[in-house]
Amino acid sequence: MRTRFAPAPTGWLHLGHVLNAEYVWNSRAEVLLRVEDHDRERCRPEYESAILDDLDWLGYRPDIFHTDAFRAGVCDGRQSDREAVYREAVEILRSDGRLYACGCTRREIESRSPSSEVPNAEPPEFAELRYDAHCRDRRLPLADGYGWRVRMDPGVERFVDRQLGPQEQDPSVRASISSFAARISWRRPGGRSASRGCSDAQSPRRSCITR
Ligand SMILES: [Zn+2]
Repeated sequence: MRTRFAPAPTGWLHLGHVLNAEYVWNSRAEVLLRVEDHDRERCRPEYESAILDDLDWLGYRPDIFHTDAFRAGVCDGRQSDREAVYREAVEILRSDGRLYACGCTRREIESRSPSSEVPNAEPPEFAELRYDAHCRDRRLPLADGYGWRVRMDPGVERFVDRQLGPQEQDPSVRASISSFAARISWRRPGGRSASRGCSDAQSPRRSCITR
């Protein structure tokens, strides 16, 4: 089995990362280290360096992409060094008609999606902003300055979470219980919120679920 630890170098390693690292390294799986530096406005090389140093100091050693591999320069564990792979995936989605542009800011999405509307909503500390497909049929241009979202069909995904047991989610449903994400995203410098996808714990400002 293989798992990954994937910090975003948008800040220093914090206790949440360390808790996550404990789960990851105690899973007995092979651990891949991935640096998620797709948010080019917020990521900084000094944060990446510090995260690598802290992982070494804490004794978390990846099986795939050692910390020294990142320090050596170009590394396949760093998302920005694999842009061609992501562009290829985007092109497949685009040619399938699966992408659409979104001009919404997070604030606008929040204003349309008060959590009080969502039945059985998660507590605020766990809640994740759901996108309401506002732009799905607006036919905005797939261009810089817009977010790019994935058109998803309804359907239930089932999996077994090692902590929580069997789970099922419909990623296309706005009020689904837990998070599921089409993570094909990155932000462009100067873009409005060019989020081609989603957020996670490391980048909580961006919206996630697309449909
Ligand atoms: Zn939108």
